[in-house]
Order: sequence, then C-alpha cells, then structure tokens
Amino acid sequence: MQVLCMHNKLQSIFMKYPHIFEPLDLGFTTLKNRILMGSMHTGLEEEKNGLERISAYYAERAKGGVGLIITGGISPNIQGWTGPFSARMSSKKHAIHHQKITKAVHDEGGKICMQILHAGRYGYHPFNVAPSKIKSPITPFKPFKLTKSGINRTIRDFVNCAKYSKIAGYDGVEIMGSEGYLINQFIATHTNKRKDKWGGSYANRMRLPVTLVKSVREAVGKDFIIIYRLSMLDLIEKGSTWEEVVQLAKEIEKAGATIINTGIGWHEARIPTIATSVPRAAFTWVTKKMKEEVSIPLVTSNRINMPATAEEVLARGDADMISMARPFLADPHWVNKAANEKSEEINTCIACNQACLDHVFKQKVASCLVNPRACHETEFNYDMASVAKKIAVVGAGPAGLSVATIAAQRGHHVTLFDSESEVGGQFNMAKQIPGKEEFHETIRYYKNQLELHNVELILNKRVSRNDLEKSDFEEIIIATGITPRTPNIKGINHRKVVSYLDVLKHKKQVGKRVAVIGAGGIGFDVSEFLLHQGNSSTLDIDTWLAEWGIDKDIEARGGIAGVQPSFPSAKREIFMFKRSKGKFGGNLGKTTGWIHRANLKKQNVQFINEVQYTKIDDQGLHYSKGEQSKILEVDNVIICAGQTPLKELYTALESSGKSIHIIGGADIADELDAKRAIDQGCRLAASL
Ligand code: FAD
Ligand code: NAP
Ligand code: SF4
Repeated sequence: MQVLCMHNKLQSIFMKYPHIFEPLDLGFTTLKNRILMGSMHTGLEEEKNGLERISAYYAERAKGGVGLIITGGISPNIQGWTGPFSARMSSKKHAIHHQKITKAVHDEGGKICMQILHAGRYGYHPFNVAPSKIKSPITPFKPFKLTKSGINRTIRDFVNCAKYSKIAGYDGVEIMGSEGYLINQFIATHTNKRKDKWGGSYANRMRLPVTLVKSVREAVGKDFIIIYRLSMLDLIEKGSTWEEVVQLAKEIEKAGATIINTGIGWHEARIPTIATSVPRAAFTWVTKKMKEEVSIPLVTSNRINMPATAEEVLARGDADMISMARPFLADPHWVNKAANEKSEEINTCIACNQACLDHVFKQKVASCLVNPRACHETEFNYDMASVAKKIAVVGAGPAGLSVATIAAQRGHHVTLFDSESEVGGQFNMAKQIPGKEEFHETIRYYKNQLELHNVELILNKRVSRNDLEKSDFEEIIIATGITPRTPNIKGINHRKVVSYLDVLKHKKQVGKRVAVIGAGGIGFDVSEFLLHQGNSSTLDIDTWLAEWGIDKDIEARGGIAGVQPSFPSAKREIFMFKRSKGKFGGNLGKTTGWIHRANLKKQNVQFINEVQYTKIDDQGLHYSKGEQSKILEVDNVIICAGQTPLKELYTALESSGKSIHIIGGADIADELDAKRAIDQGCRLAASL
C-alpha cells in the first residue's frame, strides 16, 4: 500500500495536473485523486428500471477515474422526500437494492458515498416538515412544525439511514446540510423561530447538525467516510454570519466528520450560483477562508469544469478536493482524459442547465445538452458499426457536428460540409454573448473530435443538389439549420431595421436607443450583448460578485445582507417587445430564465407586451397597445422574431432515391435549441 502511494505521489509530480492527481489519505482509506463527483439528482432514482440504469450511470463515471462519487440525495424518511415517492433509505430492503449500485462502482475501481438529504420545507409534497411552520417561496406546501419527539425521530432516521447505507456497501455518507434544506432551516433564524433547545441561540440552532454527525459517527464506526455539506455562504439576508459558519465547521469536525464539503446559496436565494454566467471557480475563496479554521479536508465547488481551473484552485490551496457534478454528465471520462493530458478531448459542461436541472425541475430524467447519452447509458451506445458507410453531412452546426463525429467514431467515413469558414453554426453567435463564453468549449470539443475521428471537413462550400445527387454517398444528412424569420411589418426594409444576424454575425453598428422585436432566447441574448458591448463580468470574479451584491469579506450576514449591488451603467436604452401576453422570458430555462430577466431589469430594459406592430419609419417603431397607438423613437429596430427551417436542399433531394435524413433546425425550427439539435444528431449517428 505504502509503495503504491509513493508510486502515485511520484507519478503525480510529473503530471500536468499534479495537485489533481495527488491521492488523498483519509487514514482508513485513500482516494486516488482530488476529484469528487458531487451529488446530483437524476430522476433515475425513481424510474421503474432506475436501479439498473443508475448503476450503469455511476459505473461509467467510476470507470472514468473519478476519486469519489456522491449519489443524488436519498431521504431518511417520508417527511424528508424532495417530492412524492422520491428515493428513500429506511429499511434493509432498500439497502439490499442499493448493493447493485455499490457493486457496479466498486467493480470499476471507484468509491461511492450516499447522500442523506432531508428536504424539510423544500419537500414538494404535503407531508413536509420544518423547524417552524413557514412556507418556502419555492414550494406550495406549508410545512408541519417538527415536535420535539419528531426531531428525535428524525435523528434516529438519519442514523438508521447511515447504517443501512453501510449494509448497501457504500464507502460513506454525505450529510446534506446546505442549500436551504432541513438542516440549514434549523441553523438560520430565517426559518427557525423555535423557543426550545432546537432554536433561539446559535448553539441551539446548530444542535441538529452536530447531533446528527455525532450520532451517525457512533453508529457507523470510525472506518466510514462522513462528509458534511456545510452552507458556507447562504446568500439570503437572514442566513448565517461567517463567525457562525466557522463555529459550526469546528463543531462538525469535533463531532467526527471526515471531510467538509462546501455549499453555496440556498435554493431560494436570488443570486445565481452555478449558471453559465457565473464565473468559473467563483466561490472557491469561501472555502479557502475556511481552510484557516479546520484541519479536516475541505472540498470546494461551483462552476469548476476544466482541469486547468481545478488544478489552479488546488495549487492555490483554496481546498483539498474539487467537487464537480454536471461536468460528469457532460463527460464521464473527464478524470482519465485529464490524467492522460487530453483535456482538449473533454466534452465540457457549459453550465446551461437545459437538460439536467431544468429536466429534474420538470420531473423528467436528467441528461446533458452536450452528451445526450448521460443517464441513458443502457439505452443507446456508440458501438462500432458492422458496415462502414460513406456519409455526407451538410451543415456543421451542433446537429451536424454531433452526427458527424459520432458516426465517424463508429467507423463510418464521414464528409462534413459547411458554407461558412468555421464550424459551429449558430454557436458562433451564442459564444459572443456576455455570460455565454462556455459555448466556445463545445466548438473546441467538436473541432477536436473531427480530427480525432478523421472526418473530412470541407468549409466555405455551399452544397447544392447537384453536389450530392450523383455522388456515391450512401447516407446524406441535412443539418442546414434555419433562416431568421422576417415579420410582415410595413417598413421592414427601412434602414433602421437590422436582424440579430446583422448584429452578431455581420457586426453592424447599432445606435444608443433600440427596440428589440421578439423576446425569445435570442431577443434576450441580443439585448445582453448590446448592453455590455464586449464587457463580460463572467470573466472577472470580483466584478461579478459586486454586480450581485456579494460581500467577499463575508462581513455581511449570509454574505449579502445590506450590500448594494453595483452594476455598470447600461451602454444603451433598450425596449423589448412581444405580441403575446405573459411575463418576459417565460419560455427560457426554468432554472435560468429569472437570471436573464434580472440582468436586463438591472440595466433598465423596458419590457412591453401585448402589442401590434404598425410600421417602422424615420421616426422609429409605431405600434399599438390596447386602444392606444404609440410611436417609439429609436435609432434601430432589431428583429429577433424566431426562425424557420432551411430545408430547400432536403426538399430538392427527397426524390433522388438516396437515403436522406434531416435533423436540427432544418427539420423543425419551432422550439429548436441545441439540446434537440445535438440529441437528434447523436441518436441518428447511433442508428446508422
Ligand atoms: P445551425 O447551428 O444553424 O447550423 C447550420 C449550419 O448549416 C450552419 O453552419 C450553416 O452555415 C450550414 N449550412 C446551411 N446551409 C448550407 C448549405 N447549403 N451548405 C453547407 N452548409 C450549409 N441554444 C441553446 O440550446 N441554448 C442556448 O443558450 C442558445 N443560445 C443561443 C444564442 C444565440 C445568439 C443564437 C443565435 C442561438 C442560440 N441557441 C441556443 C440556439 C442554437 O444555437 C441552435 O438551436 C442550434 O445551433 C441549431 O443547430 P443546427 O445544427 O440545427 O443549426
Ligand atoms: P423564439 O424563442 O421562438 O422567440 C421568437 C420571438 O419572436 C417570440 O418572442 C415571439 O413573440 C416573436 N415572434 C414570433 N413570430 C413573430 C412575428 N411574425 N412577428 C413579430 N414577432 C414574432 O425564437 P428565438 O429567440 O429566435 O430563439 C431561437 C431558438 O434558440 C429558441 O427556440 C431557443 O430555444 C434557442 N435559444 C435558447 C437560448 C437559451 O438561453 N436557452 C438562448 C437563445 C436561443 P410574440 O409571438 O409574442 O410576438
Ligand atoms: Fe452541463 Fe448543460 Fe449538460 Fe447540464 S445540460 S450537464 S449544464 S452542459
């Protein structure tokens, strides 16, 4: 064992990422590297054949080299459910079921801990409980107040849950004490108004977590990992002070925790903590501050998605381990690729939440926009094709790139055409939006995959029917995308009118006062682009923290109480229009739409709905709202009115007798996003 550790240590010194690959000795067990796969609910936990699927899902991540996996939250009892019938571990039967998961992970050489999560008042069901009878702003169910005996029962349930997790074969547990769930609800006066020994003074309010850790440690013995996820920055006004957080951490260490993990922000906090516009590693300074206070290993988290960032954080001494959750949906082999110095092959999580968190919030199984196989490992695979075919793919946007690279990976001979000089399609516009810099990574990933799998890439070539009709391609895939919609408004050809393509692609100059027609994702993005004019706070942590009113010195309670956000003055006056009723951004992502809305509101963007457009002329935009006719004087009117499929090539080839497929925006433009485009491409490639 000692020789192995020494070997690993020596090896790590010569690696590109020595800190990531330094083993972590916990005394009774050693983690092979510093990367922890953070807890993430996938929805598989509650699916009919979920056990088999989730075992395959975790096993693939273990095979990919991650040091330690934490499962999605498992409730210790019914009151602690996150939603009706969510996963629970409260009997031997449950424990035996889970043995399939732990065996699958151990067989791949991995380690896995089970997260014990009691949702408290965040439980989306009528049996939820909390320290006090106060409804959360994000659930419709008012909780029952836990009685004293109810609290004792809850502690017993946590202890039993931990004991069963040991029978299940887990290497340890993570006790979820952050993000505003039950334990957090006891700690903060925001949710705890009790007058007994579980409320009032801080010593009373932290009694529950400390008792839980102590009792679990007594029950499971010393050779079992106990991670405590501690809310280090609540991001709510009546959250904990830093002194309280430190006091709790010290008590948790004394109570017998092996590791402390960092939690940032309650779910009800109105500050983004993991969205793509949050800078990379935006919160590791919080964990670093805690390093001075406790001696057990600390894990840091939030928006760390590439090895260079993880290495930098560890090298700086901000933490002992890095937790990443979504990056393992995007690429299960993240760790092995980093170990083999092949970071450029990592399929990077772009933090969009579109296929993971947004799915979970809609009670759908999670997946990943850039890797639709995530959580579908038993359903579709990219095995080598039995017959290698000659395939043409027209269009190198997300749909074309995904089908081309996976078909080539399966052994087909693929030629990919695009009329532009670079691959990426609309992602080349998306990547320029302040806060969407991560979209560069997807293009980088695909460029690398094209080379790796020998796809013949032909750029600057607008493919026509003649190019393909008489060719020897056995399969032709049309992924030509969309054309922006031009609405039928009088004066649409006026010099003041520009399209989003003109702005983002052709870099047309736009005046100081503008009207944006259309309030979909692109309307929002174009507004963001025009407001910031090249300056993106996502690229500078301090600026971003100041914009959201987060106190980096953590003198403010909860990290925010009384802090005024400082936003730069907007570069333009923007008026955003739509014809329909309802709130602006209602069609954006469930977990991110509010951030886009908040950003534009902070910059005084005016939202005007239920309008009819009359005309555009030298004066500006004429429109009516209700009975009233109005004129808005503007320098430019920017059209972001949706898109229609570009399928002429498909129509022209349909009768050619060739085997033709159509995917992405070319197929259906309504409600198109990259999630659908990539999913269609991957599934088609898997079937060829
Ligand atoms: P496209 O990306 O449009 O690619 C089509 C490609 O085909 C183009 O490269 C084009 O040059 C090529 N082509 C067309 N005709 C021919 C021909 N005859 N010969 C050769 N080549 C041809 N989606 C999200 O999911 N999340 C987001 O956050 C997001 N943000 C966005 C922000 C902006 C500013 C924009 C503009 C889009 C955004 N999208 C987002 C939408 C997303 O980019 C599209 O849904 C996706 O690109 C569609 O993929 P596609 O491959 O079908 O088409
Ligand atoms: P969109 O979401 O369909 O929005 C189109 C907007 O144009 C709507 O607000 C609509 O509002 C308006 N509109 C439609 N027809 C019109 C007409 N004839 N005249 C005037 N206005 C009209 O499309 P998009 O913004 O172009 O985005 C394209 C796709 O890219 C979307 O499906 C989206 O999923 C994706 N995308 C996603 C993100 C993201 O953050 N997830 C970001 C950007 C793009 P009214 O009908 O009310 O007028
Ligand atoms: Fe990351 Fe988006 Fe995939 Fe979620 S869907 S894992 S946020 S890339």
